Amino acid sequence: MTEPGLVSLVGAGPGDPGLITLKGLARLKEADVIIHDRLANSKLLGHAKPGAELVDAGKGRATYRFSQEELNALLVEYARQGKRVCRLKGGDPFVFGRGGEEALACAEAGVPWEVVPGVTSAIAAPAYAGIPVTHRGKAAAVTFVTGSEEASHHEAGVEWKAVANTPGTLVILMGWETLEKITGALISHGVPGDRPAAVVQWGTVPGQKVVTGTISDIAAVAQKAGLGSPAVVIVGEVASLRDQLAWFDRRPLSGKRVLVTRARSQPSRLAAMLEEAGAECVEFPAISVVPLSDTAPIDAVIWRLVRHNSASGMGYDWATFTSPNGVTGFQVRLNALGLDARSLGGVKFAAVGPATAQALAGMGIRTDIVPDDYLAEAVVDSFRKRGFNGGRVAHFKSSIGRDTLPDGLRGMGADVDEIVAYETRVPDASPDEARAVFMPQNGGIDVTTFSSSSAVNNLAGLLGADAARLINGTLVACMGPVTAETARELGIRVDAVAGEQSIEGLVGSVVEMVKEGPKT
Ligand code: SAH
Repeated sequence: MTEPGLVSLVGAGPGDPGLITLKGLARLKEADVIIHDRLANSKLLGHAKPGAELVDAGKGRATYRFSQEELNALLVEYARQGKRVCRLKGGDPFVFGRGGEEALACAEAGVPWEVVPGVTSAIAAPAYAGIPVTHRGKAAAVTFVTGSEEASHHEAGVEWKAVANTPGTLVILMGWETLEKITGALISHGVPGDRPAAVVQWGTVPGQKVVTGTISDIAAVAQKAGLGSPAVVIVGEVASLRDQLAWFDRRPLSGKRVLVTRARSQPSRLAAMLEEAGAECVEFPAISVVPLSDTAPIDAVIWRLVRHNSASGMGYDWATFTSPNGVTGFQVRLNALGLDARSLGGVKFAAVGPATAQALAGMGIRTDIVPDDYLAEAVVDSFRKRGFNGGRVAHFKSSIGRDTLPDGLRGMGADVDEIVAYETRVPDASPDEARAVFMPQNGGIDVTTFSSSSAVNNLAGLLGADAARLINGTLVACMGPVTAETARELGIRVDAVAGEQSIEGLVGSVVEMVKEGPKT
């Protein structure tokens, strides 16, 4: 008989994928089978190991794929096959999550199981709305209840009279459908009609919606604001603290959907920084980076770098890079030739921008120059200040787009060879897929970002005749004047140009632009 595996009931947290625990993430990464809920953020599934089996346990109340009994049986069955099972559940598995039933099924069947607690929405959704569930002088206790009618039909159902007479904060889960009934019941059992209340829908994720009011009007206010399930309802004095403590939905880009068109092979630092500012990012890479089709030219340059013998007129004094992709392309060929950083001893290295310098550091190379500023002139200036005095330069770049650095260095007397280190092409997406990104029924786009001319050209190419109309329906931010010029040539209105050609610069200009609104 196979050794039984392990069933881990893992709390995925309330929605923000950053709110899973370290232990939960470890279980997720090592799982052979992941059985996940609707409320567990699908971004977390990106951590699954290759080949892991993903089972969707249900999309919503109306469309359960499995009954609870079938799910319990499934957990036991996988464990008996020796699998490591991650049962990924929204919030905390043991807070209104039916995790107890799943644990009982495992215990009864005698298969090994454990629970990895999670951050429950009962606390996190109020927290992201700026509502502490307890607070000195306002609430010394907190009660979690279910508003589900199903539960109140059982003996263990909620006694609203007792709840109405319990001091402190009341947090109601699964209470959206019955909100009016519940608030009515609480008032009829003596809760003062002016007690503060709040509803938080989709707490902790970019689409979070919050309304506040009193227990008398909160149901109507939430209804009118178009809220819906999943939501938690908070009743108690603490709800009024939101006025001062709202933070998550008050960040500069909160509520904005931002299109990121950069290549996905670069770790999405842009998306991460935009999200930090509150945006919801929609990634639609308009560029894909592909390996070189002809490696002979770069290989020849690498051999000359290795020789580094200027005296013979054969070598190079400097190697310069303007993107992490260039560094990767260089490293791939260096290694393919059976070489590594040791062979490059005498060569000096320059990187335009910290991400590029970091990529070089990743291959064990310290950069001799990283300019403080990314504007073309400033970069050349920086080279001069740091003792660059001409010489032979190998400049590694992409197959398209223009770099201003080589000309600047030539102006300082350098002898620059430009070498293609990576190729880019239009990604395999259909025009329909590209257009769908902009459709209001898919959430629409508020801001479009372009970090290179090729991203503009490729996206416009995919969108075809509709390109300018669709893109001009959003605010548009471009990294650098060359990118902006390409956009304008295609009839795209540019609302912001990041002068500083860095991701930080682009994010800064998006924030500024959203504050000020579109240029007319
Ligand atoms: N085990 C989960 C709760 C599951 S019951 C937990 O600990 O969070 C499902 C209910 O949880 C929903 O009806 C809603 O009331 C609440 N809920 C879950 N995620 C939520 C979110 N992101 N925002 C608001 N409410 C949420």
